[in-house]
Amino acid sequence: MAETKVFFVELTQDSNPDHRIKATQKLIKASGIEKIINHRNKVAVKLHVGERDNNTHISPEIIKVIVSMIKKKGGFPFLTETSTLYKGQRSNAIDHLIQAFSHGFTYENIGAPFIMADGLTGNTEIEIPINGIIFKKVNIAREIVFADALIAVSHATGHPGTALGACLKNIGMGLSGRIGKLRQHSSIKPYIDSAKCNFCKKCIKWCPVNVIIEKAEKAFIIQEKCIGCGECLAVCNFDAVRYNWGIQSADLQKRIAEHALGVIQSIQDKCFFLNFLMDMTKGCDCFGTRQTRIMPDVGIVASNDPVAVDQATLDLTADKFGESLAEKCEPDLDPTIQLEHAEKIGLGSRKYRLVTIY
Ligand code: SF4
Ligand code: SF4
Repeated sequence: MAETKVFFVELTQDSNPDHRIKATQKLIKASGIEKIINHRNKVAVKLHVGERDNNTHISPEIIKVIVSMIKKKGGFPFLTETSTLYKGQRSNAIDHLIQAFSHGFTYENIGAPFIMADGLTGNTEIEIPINGIIFKKVNIAREIVFADALIAVSHATGHPGTALGACLKNIGMGLSGRIGKLRQHSSIKPYIDSAKCNFCKKCIKWCPVNVIIEKAEKAFIIQEKCIGCGECLAVCNFDAVRYNWGIQSADLQKRIAEHALGVIQSIQDKCFFLNFLMDMTKGCDCFGTRQTRIMPDVGIVASNDPVAVDQATLDLTADKFGESLAEKCEPDLDPTIQLEHAEKIGLGSRKYRLVTIY
């Protein structure tokens, strides 16, 4: 079996946009990403445009570097994303594209069109058979299945449910259709800490299935009807929405890994994965607020192995700062569950050789 390599370009603390662009160019050149692209291939560039006021997402200038490389190889790049389950600015194709354009992800800026992978309302999906441990089939956003190649551009952040939000999360959750997302979230049911709830009713307004009711002048979630979308967590300003993540995180992480397997299988392994370890924050880019950086920039990693690239993200931050990004953000959660499970189902390897590009 070929050795798994993860290519790495270091960035110094608080790198500026020019450093980042040059680092991305260097990484693309050295890592051989372009080998997955053949003439006239339709190449999906999976990104995250950042919710509402988020300003730490990966910038359009960096995405443009990747798009330019694809065009140079004779491929047809398109930017892609899926609708969220929660009611933010990205819960259907229209809102999502408006949000993307407002953050600069336009054809004029980048040179590639934006095509939502899961249609107008997030329910255009295809069932892909997989040999998973939890699932034997997963629902993947339809258009991704028709792409010839995939480059996943992931912003490394913390995540309240998985501790690490990086490549596996970006493709597993981020390229599933609505049914796929619901199946991943199905065991994740929040509850309201009544001591903290001041009954502002914001969560009631945002719950997509109207299962938050009033009980003794506090919000109350009808657990049996909750679809686990997490919107109430995102909108509550008083830290009153709680999860029992200790039990639920493990299940969520495994489900995400199995959907990532469906994505990669459907695209027949013509995939490459880049994780950007910069502007790292406690919450992921789905948080609609401005977040403070939780650790200095580290660099960019790239590999054809989605497991190795996430493992390297944990290792590089741990080596540099004494605790990994996930440990710093969510010390009570274990982010390696997703990696172990992904390795078990044949998605990739946690063992890799780091190739540093100077
Ligand atoms: S948003 Fe938070 S504080 Fe407001 S009602 Fe819901 S749980 Fe209570
Ligand atoms: S109560 Fe359940 S369905 Fe409603 S917003 Fe919260 S997680 Fe989503």
